[in-house]
Amino acid sequence: MPEKMFAPELFRPPVEFPEVPYDHLLRRAAERNPDGRAIIYHDLSLTYREVVSMVNCIANGLYNLGLRKGERLCIFTLNRPEYTITFIAAASIGLVVSPMNPSYKEREIAYQLENSEASAILVQRELLPLLQAVLAQKSLPNLKHVIVTGSHVPEGMPQAIPFGRLLRESSPKAPPTVPVDPDDLLALPYSSGTTGLPKGTMLTHRNLVSNNLQFTTALQTTFTDVALLFLPFYHIYGVMLTGGFLACGATQIVMERFDMLQSLELCEKYNVTYYFAVPPIILALANAPIDLSKLKSVKYIFSGAAPLAPEPARKVQEKTGIQVVQGYGLTEASPLTHAQPKDPALVRLESVGLPVHNTEQKIVDIETGTRELPVGEDGEIIIRGPQVMKGYWKAPEETAQTLRDGWLYTGDIGHVDEDGYTYIVDRKKEMIKYKGFGIAPAEIEALLLEHPAVMDAAVIPVPDPEAGEVPKGFVVLRPGQSVTPDDLIAFVNGRLAGYKRLGFVEFIDSIPKVASGKILRRELKERERARRAAE
Ligand code: AMP
Repeated sequence: MPEKMFAPELFRPPVEFPEVPYDHLLRRAAERNPDGRAIIYHDLSLTYREVVSMVNCIANGLYNLGLRKGERLCIFTLNRPEYTITFIAAASIGLVVSPMNPSYKEREIAYQLENSEASAILVQRELLPLLQAVLAQKSLPNLKHVIVTGSHVPEGMPQAIPFGRLLRESSPKAPPTVPVDPDDLLALPYSSGTTGLPKGTMLTHRNLVSNNLQFTTALQTTFTDVALLFLPFYHIYGVMLTGGFLACGATQIVMERFDMLQSLELCEKYNVTYYFAVPPIILALANAPIDLSKLKSVKYIFSGAAPLAPEPARKVQEKTGIQVVQGYGLTEASPLTHAQPKDPALVRLESVGLPVHNTEQKIVDIETGTRELPVGEDGEIIIRGPQVMKGYWKAPEETAQTLRDGWLYTGDIGHVDEDGYTYIVDRKKEMIKYKGFGIAPAEIEALLLEHPAVMDAAVIPVPDPEAGEVPKGFVVLRPGQSVTPDDLIAFVNGRLAGYKRLGFVEFIDSIPKVASGKILRRELKERERARRAAE
């Protein structure tokens, strides 16, 4: 094969994506195949026609509540059809969806509701007590509507609106026409970005329409595909999957969370063709002492959200005969920017593949970000394309740092080979990745500093064979204090979502910083590396 065949621009030539509001992708698919199976969840099976009708009911219901274009709606549920339906319904009337992690604890819920100035929230019934606890402690004047899953008004919250009532009592006809521009905001997922506390990532209709189609075009999915979706919908990877498979008219099987045995059963029952995973799941499949033959209908296992070690990926391929395909992206790019080619002859397992359609990349020097580096040299990966966010919500400084001259500075370090394949080797930004979940060290540091014994703190990632990385805290105690590392670990772990769990705490005399007060994380990482090497 001639070498030039690998050139990204030849392999993935530019495509014209429609400039339509996000909900049009579903509506278009439903027009083509109204009776196709769209969503399966436990015993519930919804056709495209039914999904559109439910989307319309919820859009009308939200509109009748008084919600208007630009207002924020948080979704605080596990994966379930209500999630996807509400997301697309909100898009139909110009609302902005802020997906919230269902494992959040009170302070994280309060932070996102307050920071996003959400007017409404859809909350899963089982999570309502957490929301009630937040509302008892904090005044959230913007939050006017609480919609709860199920059909009945929950005890102790007569003002909450059951989702089932919105569905029953609203019209299934198209909602009022709200003019939506492709550059209007559609989603506000929270990400740690390069530095600091989690920030709302402003994604537009154009961003998500393009990225759904970049994803389905790169993976060449069709309406005959069946995707198993257990990755969380609150994360942008999950948003892309549930939206992308609806956009191409395929069937999605929704699971609330990952359970390996159940996932195998569902693959067999529904002849699943696409299995979406994160690296710890690939590792679990590689090491599982069980028969994986129930995966026999699966054509591709896709891994993203964190670095994939090639060995477990190879092992899974050998055990199952299924092609493992790696993708790369970030919340700020809606998320997909790279994917490996599906053709086994073109896969380079160590790489994250080639930029998806209409996506340009450069590797630039890490210090200034201005000098483009040649093939093979490591630098910061920067991206340009229709999926790149508009900026961070209410954070102009971070936006200016991350978006420069139309390029998204990913904070990831890597290089390209002579054929344009990209390899991620390190991360420049502070983010910690636990099993694919992004953690902002600043959030754990702020919490540690609330402990009366703590004078100063810094948190860095340390490698973990199963999770990829776990957070470790370096802590300077106030004089005369006698807390133990375990006390501080318990203090943090009781207040933040489980995946932000501090693995270790080490006491230290002072936190290395530059004059401006910025923590020298690299020094702490070096110190940790040296300590581990000496062990
Ligand atoms: P998030 O915004 O939570 O999706 O996190 C995005 C970050 O996850 C990226 O900036 C990378 O640091 C990391 N990441 C995602 N996919 C990969 C991958 N395939 N290989 C290495 N790192 C990845």
